[in-house]
Amino acid sequence: MQYKIPLFDLNFDEAEEKAVIETLKSKWISIGPKCEEFENKFAKMLNADFAISMSNCTTALHLAFASLGIREGDEVITPSLTFVATVNAIRYVGATPVFCDICNYEDLTIDPVKIENLITEKTKAIVVMHYGGFAVDMDAVMDIAKRYNLKVVEDACHGPLSEYKGKKLGTIGDVGCFSFFSNKNISTGEGGMIVTNRKDLLDKTKLLRSHGMTSMSYERAKGHSTTYDVIELGFNFRMDDIRASIGIVQLDKLQNDLEKRAIVREQYIKGLKDVEEIIIPFLNYKEFSSNYIFPILLKNSNINKREEVRDKLHKKGIQTSVHYSSVHRYSIYKKYNVTLPITEYVSENIITLPMFGKLKEQDIQYVIDAIKEIISNN
Ligand SMILES: *Cc1c(COP(=O)(O)O)cnc(C)c1O
Repeated sequence: MQYKIPLFDLNFDEAEEKAVIETLKSKWISIGPKCEEFENKFAKMLNADFAISMSNCTTALHLAFASLGIREGDEVITPSLTFVATVNAIRYVGATPVFCDICNYEDLTIDPVKIENLITEKTKAIVVMHYGGFAVDMDAVMDIAKRYNLKVVEDACHGPLSEYKGKKLGTIGDVGCFSFFSNKNISTGEGGMIVTNRKDLLDKTKLLRSHGMTSMSYERAKGHSTTYDVIELGFNFRMDDIRASIGIVQLDKLQNDLEKRAIVREQYIKGLKDVEEIIIPFLNYKEFSSNYIFPILLKNSNINKREEVRDKLHKKGIQTSVHYSSVHRYSIYKKYNVTLPITEYVSENIITLPMFGKLKEQDIQYVIDAIKEIISNN
């Protein structure tokens, strides 16, 4: 269906088209100079030492755990209020996810106090997810990691350029992972990036990204090497130069787009902060955020009431979404048999409203008015 106000709109114009055509005409379309340029630009933008382009963020998360040596028998503490890939990636290396609740209805990120209570002798890592581009309490997480000798992976899919105390999200733990799926802040169709400041992880990730081969055809074409060995059981998780050339253009637009999103958020907050029946998560958040999404949480509600509200918004031409259903309640994760009261309430009562830089003032007002009308009549 064609929505009057979609959840998201691509920030694309002729610049992306031109970049793709140039790459096609260059005849080097797989991993090559564009991927390298995208990586360098991304690392610089985040003040990270290294960035490694990936086929998507799911493979980035997989290699984050693999390169850190997480394996069967290990436990990894994870939020459940996240996209399922965060948790699936723990399973890809044979480790066991240990689900942890979030802080509260205002702060939807993993709760460091609850993390500490879940640590066992098997715990090897913590994966955090910066929900909506709002930072996890990284000082507390890094302190726990230090005291218990744990690795930290940041699922920073929602937060390119978002900050925590002057540092970019994704650069605080051992490894940060980003996604360039179409509806993310940076869109390349499919795509992802790993960032790290550790040279050993750079080397290991590059090896695993490309079949465990000691050199790639791109390097051999440049004459840097003529042969290769295979020294690990690797994968093919590479990006390609067509997507990378789109990513380079998207990076140039990012800061400006995020500034526009901040204005959209401000207008939403102004219009909705006095609505008794809802909570606006991260309301008083002060740091720079990517504002990947704008969620509201219904008070004294349940999943049926939430779906009714969403249905009425849908009938008014407003597309909404849910970030997220609890991962621990999906069929394949039910066997872990955990209860996470805050995550469960949020999963059943949260609504994601339209959010993108080009959202017009009158459209935001239309959404605000629709919510007020629907909620006061519910
Ligand atoms: C989108 C997303 C992923 C997966 O990214 P892909 O690039 O689609 O594989 C993982 N975690 C979070 C939090 C995401 O939003």
